[in-house]
Amino acid sequence: LASSSALASPIASLDGTGIKPETRVLVLGHGREGSSAARFLASAGVTVTVADCSVHAKHALIDDADIQLAPEDPALLDVADSVLVSPGIPDSNVLLAAAVKRGLPVTTATRLFFTNCPCPVIGVTGSNGKSTTASLIAAILQSAGIDVALGGNIGHPMLDLLPNLSERSLAVVELSSFQLQLLDRSPHVAVVTNITPNHLDRHGSFAAYVEAKRHIVFNQKPSDVAVLNCADPRARDFAVSTSARVRWFGHDCRDIPSAHVSDGWLVFDDGHTKKPILPASDVSIPGRHNVENVLAALAATQEMAIDADILRSAIKAFRGLPHRLQHVATHEGITYVNDSIATSPERAGTSIQSIDTPVVLIAGGRSKHLPWTPVLETGAGKVHSVILMGEAADEIEAAIYDAGLSPRLLTYRAGSMVEAVDHARARVHRGDTVLLSPGCTSFDMFKDFEERGRAFTSAVEGLWQR
Ligand code: ADP
Repeated sequence: LASSSALASPIASLDGTGIKPETRVLVLGHGREGSSAARFLASAGVTVTVADCSVHAKHALIDDADIQLAPEDPALLDVADSVLVSPGIPDSNVLLAAAVKRGLPVTTATRLFFTNCPCPVIGVTGSNGKSTTASLIAAILQSAGIDVALGGNIGHPMLDLLPNLSERSLAVVELSSFQLQLLDRSPHVAVVTNITPNHLDRHGSFAAYVEAKRHIVFNQKPSDVAVLNCADPRARDFAVSTSARVRWFGHDCRDIPSAHVSDGWLVFDDGHTKKPILPASDVSIPGRHNVENVLAALAATQEMAIDADILRSAIKAFRGLPHRLQHVATHEGITYVNDSIATSPERAGTSIQSIDTPVVLIAGGRSKHLPWTPVLETGAGKVHSVILMGEAADEIEAAIYDAGLSPRLLTYRAGSMVEAVDHARARVHRGDTVLLSPGCTSFDMFKDFEERGRAFTSAVEGLWQR
């Protein structure tokens, strides 16, 4: 990997904590981001070892003999000057805890990226809507002819973007709370979609999760921009933690300069003029939450002074990302929607609210032990049947019973996705939507949410062959 931008200028430290070419770095985690960081460091001349609990013997990384891959062995710390931790590694990890105890500097791929990125960065965080908003921003910038690269938590490691970035580029990066946790710099434009309780198992408390997210604005300069959701109390509170100019967005944020909805139009009000951008009905991605994501993207791209026609056509053309309220098929008057990304009950609730027809819901998987009752109560008028799968089936059924919804809300059990879709097909009426919005993670039955979404799509496509 040619990390030309990292090596072009004489950088004293590759990450601001002291990693230099002569440093020995132990990378914790052999996932996508850990592997990308290992390759980046090795190409900069750093001696790299990658430790991962799934590795049982020491060997060289495939395709790159300069990087050792090893089991998690505390002895590795004896020959490390610094540790780079992947976002998936919890603080309780034995090697990480021992490294901290020894006083070894701990860094992240995100720090390496921010130190070495040659162009301004637009960072997007939030509990929900990060990928959609980041993709919208990138789509708008691309339509305006700007050299833009999209990466980060969305699935493309941000360090892999570096070789293709120049000073004239713009990097749009999706940032999770884990990627923000140890960050000592903030992006030029920082977007916060919303903040609700998430990942509390890893962060320990909601307060710690909010503090991790706060890093996205904390080190901004007055010339930077913070794009904040005016309707979200925690995101709103970030305004006092930043030196940047704040741009607000939100559906009902009409009383202050902001991106908002007024008389059915998405409008940008800069405090002097109100610019109508496009009718809300022209937004192709479904649901009120997606209008909010578009407003965030409009606020984030305001300073690029993009022509309203370009904004309008880029937003109209944006069809959303796979597995997020993705239209799979309409067959015999029944619509099938894949929302496999919905791994919490709250997200399933948002999705149910976005659908205008009666719903047969396919839910379940591995529980995150979050409350189902509010979702069930708000969805009960729309959802008439729930097909339950996976480990959480009992828990969801008990919640339906406890909420007193069991006579109205019919439940069925399925042992596989094909069975779930078959059950759903047997329960729908013309005009209904069959919605896969599991409210749980996929790991009890699938590799990840994407595999689960693909299983749904192929089960739906198989319907007219079965
Ligand atoms: P993330 O990247 O934060 O995981 P995505 O853009 O991938 O978010 O959207 C995933 C799901 O989160 C959507 O299918 C929807 O259920 C929910 N969601 C998206 N945007 C928002 C929003 N602005 N507010 C609330 N929920 C949202």
